[in-house]
Formats: sequence, structure tokens, C-alpha cells
Amino acid sequence: MKKSVRFWRRAIIASVLALIALPSCGMVVLSLQNARLKQEIDNKMVDGDDMFSVGTTSYDAASIVRQKPLLSYQLLYPEMVSSFSGFNDDLVSPKTIFLTFDDGPSNSTQPILDVLRKNEVKATFFVNGKLGVFASAWLKEIAADGHSIGMHSYTHKYPLIYESVENFIEDLHKNFLYVKNTTGVSPSLLRFPGGSINTYNLKIYPLLCAEMLRRGFIYCDWNVSAGDAIKGATAESMVENVLNGVKLCWGPAFVLMHDNGSVDLPRALPQIIERLKSEGYTFAALDTTVRPPMFVYPEEE
Ligand code: ZN
Repeated sequence: MKKSVRFWRRAIIASVLALIALPSCGMVVLSLQNARLKQEIDNKMVDGDDMFSVGTTSYDAASIVRQKPLLSYQLLYPEMVSSFSGFNDDLVSPKTIFLTFDDGPSNSTQPILDVLRKNEVKATFFVNGKLGVFASAWLKEIAADGHSIGMHSYTHKYPLIYESVENFIEDLHKNFLYVKNTTGVSPSLLRFPGGSINTYNLKIYPLLCAEMLRRGFIYCDWNVSAGDAIKGATAESMVENVLNGVKLCWGPAFVLMHDNGSVDLPRALPQIIERLKSEGYTFAALDTTVRPPMFVYPEEE
């Protein structure tokens, strides 16, 4: 009987001790774990403002740009830069039209310039260099008339220029020199062939856009197209496309047209200008103070 009492007394004491000890042990384990997690969070916090991680490696972004070499394409033609001093939205009204002509100079250049001169309209030409010296006189004439001149690649060969950022810059540099040496003015505007996002540059367009902006160039997409480069386009279809497109714009219109040798565009142009003027629109040439449209991917629904 005595033995049994002793046994139960010991059993009860052991149970009580276990009840006290177990949570205490648990607390010790949890607090150790807590300390470890806190340390992990502290380590991660280092990635906050001035660090970033790729996989398990942390980088100090500032040290990357401090050290040479920079990205290989950033080292190409360091003199090919522009000074951007900001947009000025006050200078542009929602009823401003920016006519833009891509792919010239060509044998359409002079007929287009004639129309613009007669109507006292200033516009923007995004030029290629593929015709080289042969087209220099036309390029000089565009500049002499006071229109803006931007770059649009030298060769305009999509598979070549969009194969890599390096290729794009190699080509653009020729375009840059062509405009600078022919007109005496360094271009600061750019229109990517096919626009800033297109089928050929899908893999590299964020790098291309970032590199152009890093160099101080402003690239301009469009929000209205005359559809003049589409097969079967007529002067009538061009007028209709522009007038309908402008109506749908909530702000200034940036109209895509082509200086590509077509005879229809110079025929359509006077009607486009007259109609829009009669509706209270004004025309202006682009410069880097104008906030341009830039293509974006549509948000997924
Ligand atoms: Zn083009």
C-alpha cells in the first residue's frame, strides 16, 4: 500500500514537472527560431533601398555603374547622346497636331515640303540613311524649311537592327552621323522602326527603350495612322484615316505618315490640313519638350 502511494506521488510530481518543463522547452525553441527569422529578415532588409537580389546573390546597384566596364552596348559611341531638359505640357494644347513622316528622304520629300510650305505647317521627319549622300539635298531642304528631324535607323532592316541592342546602336550611330553631318544639328528625337514595341524587338525592347532614354534621346510613337503604307491605300483612305483617328484622340494627335515615294500622300495632305484647320486644330513640329506617346502593352483583363 505504501509503495503504491509513493509510486503515485512520484508519478504526479513527474507529470507536474513535465507540464512545467515542456512549455518552457517549447518557449526556448520558439525564441531561438524567432531570433533566427529576425536575423534572416534583417539580412533581407539590406536588399531594400540600395541592394537588389538575383537568386541568392545580392548586388549593390551603385557599385555596378561605378565600376567599368558598363554594359557592353553602353560603351559604344559614348558621344552619341542628347541633353533632355524635361517636357513642357503647357506649350501643347489638346488640339495640336504633330504630323510625322517616316522613312524619308525620298522623291516624295519635295512634294510634301511644297504642301507644308503652302499651308505654313511645320512637321517632323524621322529619316533613314539608306539613300545616303544621294538624299542629302532633300534632307538639307527639310532642315532649311524649319521642320524637325529625328532618327529612324540607318538601314531600316528589322531583322538586323533588332537582333541585339548592339546592332541597333551600331545602326543608329550611322543614322545619327548622317543627320548631324548633313544638317549640322545633332538629332535628339527618335522613332523606332515599327514603333517602340513591335514583333521584331519583343525580346529586347525594354533594354532598347531604357538605353535610348539613358542617352537622353526621346522616342515618339504615334496615336493616329494615315495607313498610307498599307497596300491598296488611296489619298481618300488616308484623309479618312487621319480625320477619324484625330477625332478619337483625347489629347494632341501624333500622326504617322510616310515619306516613301508615294504620290498619294502629297495629294491627301492638303485636304487633311485644310479640314483639321477648319475644325480649330493647329500644327506643330516635335521637339523634346513635347511629351510623346509611347507604346505600352495592354493590361490583361
Ligand atoms: Zn519606318
